[in-house]
Amino acid sequence: MNTKRVHVIGAGLAGTEAAMAAARQGVRVVLYEMRPRKMTPAHRSGKFAELVCSNSLGGEQPANAKGLLQAEMRRAGSVVMCAADTARVPAGGALAVDRERFADQVTALIEAEPLIEVRREEVTELPPDGIVVLATGPLTSDALANALRQIIPAEHFLAYYDAAAPVVLGETINYSIVFRGGRFEQPDDYLNCPLTAEDYKRLHEAILQARKHVPHEWEHLEYFEGCMPIEELARRGYLTLRFGPLRPVGLRDPRTGQEPFAVVQLRQEDLAGRLWSLVGFQTGLKWPDQKTIVRTIPGLEQAEIVRYGVMHRNTYLNAPALLDATLRMRHQARLFVAGVLCGVEGYLESAATGWLAGLNAARVAQGREPVVPPEVSMLGGLVRFLATARPENFQPMNANWGLVPAVPGRKKDKRARRASMYYRGVTAFEQWLRSIGWTPAHVADTAANAAAVEAAVLKADPDAQ
Ligand SMILES: Cc1cc2nc3c(=O)[nH]c(=O)nc-3n(C[C@H](O)[C@H](O)[C@H](O)COP(=O)(O)OP(=O)(O)OC[C@H]3O[C@@H](n4cnc5c(N)ncnc54)[C@H](O)[C@@H]3O)c2cc1C
Repeated sequence: MNTKRVHVIGAGLAGTEAAMAAARQGVRVVLYEMRPRKMTPAHRSGKFAELVCSNSLGGEQPANAKGLLQAEMRRAGSVVMCAADTARVPAGGALAVDRERFADQVTALIEAEPLIEVRREEVTELPPDGIVVLATGPLTSDALANALRQIIPAEHFLAYYDAAAPVVLGETINYSIVFRGGRFEQPDDYLNCPLTAEDYKRLHEAILQARKHVPHEWEHLEYFEGCMPIEELARRGYLTLRFGPLRPVGLRDPRTGQEPFAVVQLRQEDLAGRLWSLVGFQTGLKWPDQKTIVRTIPGLEQAEIVRYGVMHRNTYLNAPALLDATLRMRHQARLFVAGVLCGVEGYLESAATGWLAGLNAARVAQGREPVVPPEVSMLGGLVRFLATARPENFQPMNANWGLVPAVPGRKKDKRARRASMYYRGVTAFEQWLRSIGWTPAHVADTAANAAAVEAAVLKADPDAQ
């Protein structure tokens, strides 16, 4: 056999998916992970695919762009989606997971795969031969980053600040103030801390007065607009938080029967409901100041913080300058890049690009051509964007409807239009999988999903077929 091995560096969301996709093509894989020997500033364990902040993989509805990417990943037999389905916790229309159980499940699935050899070591140089998938994420170790700088021009190594939100212990929440409820038609899976105008003023002042924890060397970096820390939002204007993560719309406090002035939402983190994270409350403030701020929120006066928010540097590559839509480096044919490092933002997007990079790395190892999913699929739209965006001002990208072409000739409402795009994307992706000889791993799931999707679409838009 002349098939080369695939080396996957990093066993996060992208790397685990890449390793499994390559192994399922019958290719031997070496998967390198430096944790727990060498930790990153954000990870806490040696488990694979550890979620470092929010425990949500995004909305599941057909009207949601992440929902389409989830559906595609299910059809691809994604290890991350499989683990997410077993570790699911209630979160309204979102797919949220018990993070411990999720990481345990991914780790177990990878370790049980005979074609994957796991090496617990930091990679400081690129492997001298074989096909390589780089999936070392936003916190790529310095030694490897330095090695990459030998082959990637410095101007294509980009970075921004990102931040994680605090998590509080459920038993320390005051349930006589905090009420259950989701916005509009969502189920009541969230806890809501109602703020009066006075409470909001106090909270805003406390945030402005708090001390930042920002290492000196990061001071020139930009924030990422999609994950803005609360201190930056508060600094931008008095009502910015109220129109952002603290918006009260669609929520009614049962004690007053009124919509509060602002609301801090809590999302369940674990199956037992013992841990709750503050939604959209990512912060890099000093820990004692975080405690003060959290305790000014009505219902959280006695809250115990079990994980504080952290700020971190987020490294990524200038994808349009370096990669093609198969996620291969244009001038380094044996190198593929996936996850945050290839310029996507988000757990699901990282996993999805990992799957494609792993699939293509295996194909190249077998002497076949790499492939690109159809442009009407969310993954196809995402990787086309990475390859063709303007390199001068490249910013990481999430799954969103702007990445896929509109459905021609439809003048229905937005939900129906999106449902049609969802249905079209799922169908095209499934056909494409078959055309490249990929057999979905979760056939029963996909059949059930397809039926549910079709019913939802036809209900929303009877002309969809
Ligand atoms: C603090 C923080 C908060 C975040 N919050 C969110 C959020 O709420 N929602 C969201 O969707 N995304 C969030 N992100 C982004 C998140 O990191 C990605 O969505 C996702 O984890 C990226 O997947 P990845 O596989 O690219 O990287 P990771 O999941 O980070 O995996 C990379 C892996 O590579 C390993 N590694 C690094 N260097 C080496 C080396 N030299 N040798 C061997 N192994 C190495 C690391 O230990 C790690 O396990 C956050 C990131 C951070 C750091």
